[in-house]
Amino acid sequence: MASLRQGCGDLRGLVSTFTQSCQGSLSEAQGQVSWALGALSAGGAGTQLPEGQQGPPTGCPGRLLELKGNIRVLCRLRPGTPCSLVSVEAGPGGTVTTCYRGRQRRFHLDWVFSPDASQEEVFGELEPAVLSCLQGYSVCIFTYGQTGTGKTYSMEGPPEDPGIAPRALQSLFREMGTGGQHRVTLSMVEIYNEAVRDLLAPGPPERLAVRQGPAGQGGIQVAGLTHWDVPNLETLHQMLSLGRSNRATAATSMNPRSSRSHALVTLTLCAASPPSTPGTAGTLHLVDLAGSERAWKAGATGTQRGDPNSAQRLREAQTINRSLLALGGVMAALRARRSHVPFRDSQLTRLLQPALGPGTTAVLLLQISTRPEDLGETVCSLKFAERVGQVELGPARRRKAPRSETPSSLSTDTPLTGTPCTPTRSPVSPPSPSPDSGSCSALGPSGDLPP
Ligand code: ADP
Ligand code: MG
Repeated sequence: MASLRQGCGDLRGLVSTFTQSCQGSLSEAQGQVSWALGALSAGGAGTQLPEGQQGPPTGCPGRLLELKGNIRVLCRLRPGTPCSLVSVEAGPGGTVTTCYRGRQRRFHLDWVFSPDASQEEVFGELEPAVLSCLQGYSVCIFTYGQTGTGKTYSMEGPPEDPGIAPRALQSLFREMGTGGQHRVTLSMVEIYNEAVRDLLAPGPPERLAVRQGPAGQGGIQVAGLTHWDVPNLETLHQMLSLGRSNRATAATSMNPRSSRSHALVTLTLCAASPPSTPGTAGTLHLVDLAGSERAWKAGATGTQRGDPNSAQRLREAQTINRSLLALGGVMAALRARRSHVPFRDSQLTRLLQPALGPGTTAVLLLQISTRPEDLGETVCSLKFAERVGQVELGPARRRKAPRSETPSSLSTDTPLTGTPCTPTRSPVSPPSPSPDSGSCSALGPSGDLPP
């Protein structure tokens, strides 16, 4: 009965969203086809498309085919001694085969990196998505996996071999050039034991309240979150290391391992445009999730080692588990196209709501261990990732910037500041459809560009 009820609920959700999603896909397809026809005729006539009507982002020639808009799942293995219980077929549409408790399972993912894949190779797969933010798309890249499998290594990387975040910023600023066409805004938060903290606050990080944005505008707001205008790459790197050091400072007093908190970096890129057309506001979310190991394991380990803070470890593990379970619940609801998606179940899912909305692009980088003792956890992570890969967010849509917030209109009265290591708070609220001084809101559905 329970499974029948569940099936019935799923079916209801599917039916109620079917028409809506069909219309969305259809209009997006029409937009893409008309863009393609426009590009063809412009090419034939030897002319260029008018500004503001640029098509799919650089490096995304296959975008016309990406009508389903699934979350892409990539998988990277923590380098170590090869283990016969975990084998991979690397490359696009790659597989990971595990042998756990005598049962063989094969997991299909969008891309599997070979165990010796470099940071450059990993970023190469993500760069087209990152650059699409400059065209007004919303992109979320998150790393998921057990503690110690290399999430932070892939996302941040050591200075001598930088990871996704520093490479993404470099690539974006290189693509933007020095023309001042975009206004870049940065915010950085950490979620530790369900408390949201601003890692770039001028004072000590304080617990911030997350609220739903005004009705009809969608999105969420984080009251008091600071947003910083970033004029150049150097300042951006300095601000990110400031945020990272704030995370580490908190770690010494509360959590000895930063993998016990989720870290979210959000970059908003508002493009200037001719006065007659709206500018675009792309967003890049980079999320380094906390470790996904089970609570009992973390708690037991703490007790066995005589850790005086084992109760604290257990609580941390429980809150991480709850938030990752909530993430799983959100993914399941999105996968089944239910009308209600439980974004409110945790602070993590609330903050990720704008990044997982219709028309956004999301990429999950799964990190796994090949150690025999981690096999149970590896299988759990792979099951989660395979399910996430079935989530359809719909074809990617560009977002327009609110008229008053485009860089062209701001450049005269809003100096782009960001002094190294002593950044200045943005004098206006960030580009957002839900203006709320000092608060953040991701672009809601009202920001979609018409196809
Ligand atoms: P997590 O964030 O998942 O807890 P870390 O990123 O902190 O894990 O990685 C744990 C350790 O493994 C670090 O010392 C890191 O340098 C190392 N490591 C992880 N992945 C790699 C890799 N691909 N190449 C080299 N070292 C790695
Ligand atoms: Mg980590």
